[in-house]
Amino acid sequence: MESIDTRSLQQLDAAHHLHPFNDNAALAKKGTRILTRGEGCYVWDSEGNQLLDAFAGLWCVNIGYGRRELGEAASRQMTQLAYYNSFFGCTTEPTVRLAAKLAELCPGDLNHAFFSNSGSEANDTILRLVRHYWAVQGEPQKNIVIGRHNGYHGSTVAGASLGGMKGMHKQGGLPIPDIHHIDPPFWFADGGDMDEETYGRHCAQRLEDKILELGADRVAAFIGEPIMGAIGVYIPPKNYWKEIERICRKHDVLLIADEVICGFGRTGEWFAADYFGFQPDIMTLAKGITSGYIPLGAAMFSDRIAKVLHEKGGELAHGYTYSGHPVCAAVALENIRILQDEKIVDTCRTDTGPYLAKKWKQLGEHPLVGEARIAGMVGALELVPSKPSRAFFEDRGRVGQLCRDIALKNGLILRATYDSMLLSPPLVISRAQVDELAEKAWKSLDMTARELGMPTG
Ligand SMILES: *Cc1c(COP(=O)(O)O)cnc(C)c1O
Repeated sequence: MESIDTRSLQQLDAAHHLHPFNDNAALAKKGTRILTRGEGCYVWDSEGNQLLDAFAGLWCVNIGYGRRELGEAASRQMTQLAYYNSFFGCTTEPTVRLAAKLAELCPGDLNHAFFSNSGSEANDTILRLVRHYWAVQGEPQKNIVIGRHNGYHGSTVAGASLGGMKGMHKQGGLPIPDIHHIDPPFWFADGGDMDEETYGRHCAQRLEDKILELGADRVAAFIGEPIMGAIGVYIPPKNYWKEIERICRKHDVLLIADEVICGFGRTGEWFAADYFGFQPDIMTLAKGITSGYIPLGAAMFSDRIAKVLHEKGGELAHGYTYSGHPVCAAVALENIRILQDEKIVDTCRTDTGPYLAKKWKQLGEHPLVGEARIAGMVGALELVPSKPSRAFFEDRGRVGQLCRDIALKNGLILRATYDSMLLSPPLVISRAQVDELAEKAWKSLDMTARELGMPTG
């Protein structure tokens, strides 16, 4: 592996490869890190560095790297039938079996899968089908979808519009019409002296206020990440989603849970809807559905929605060449088999998750950390200039990046959004690896503090 010529690959990369979510000019100067190998919770780069991946790639490698069974499942399916579509009255066995498996796993009556290649495309699908659902029932004006400021629902036109990232909206003239946003729950910045329950109700009320402002006869659906990932792992109060559910039912607004990060065990439950105890009408899946080994997404619909689409929808004028791709479906089925047979989600809920939470909360005692939040195996450390004040650093993002780079030098991959250090390790992380993670994180916090001339831990 170390025989790779890093420098020449970096030059080719700079010359020919536009990186997503990067300042490409700055990256070209600095040189890309080239990853070459993965095993369990570790990855290696082309210079031979071993890194503990506490971010599971991009929130996705739930079963860890290097599981041969997934490669074998792909190889078997490619050899037998590499591709067939689900368009013209056809489909393939793994596609059907995966749809049935998802129906079994998803909470309540989310029994109907529409397949895409990614989370973004699944959300595009949802936007179209939700509007179609109301239109065929004689309510074409009920077409507004409400999302949240700073939410993330992908990078396609619909995904980025449903999301509330201002920087994304600036590029490409988004959001498209009839998408509105409300403020998300983020107690650390916004909760004042409200207790958890009061704050949960306060934030959910923003949805009802928005519905009343727009008129319930105009609002088709509300979409949210149960735990907001990309913006910095905002974990809402426990009662927030129950309240949101109540408000949606009251005004006949469909409830969409974007479970692209939370699904497949991230919270210690199979889905965050189980974790928070609410029932979505629609759910978006991707990432952990294949543990990132191959691209796949799905939108899950309830019986009620499927019934309307069946009986009144006519031909579904929507689909991707690779909707329900048999190789991706076969890999997803094998991934889910491993999650179930090896009781990975259970272990995470009852053993390693609580252990990680304990260690993560201890990192919260570091002078640089204003808050350590965690649910199951997804969390964040909020870096601040002076505890216990909940004020941010003035030039938000600089310290987070500094800490991320220092952690990398210490052999630990964490992501930084502004000054939040984000955690989302493979669900198979062991207690010993949690110890290693916590030790490297503490050391990195110390080194960051020293660099800033702040007190160390
Ligand atoms: C990653 C993500 C998406 C987009 O999925 P892609 O596969 O990158 O298109 C959508 N929603 C959430 C919550 C995500 O984290």
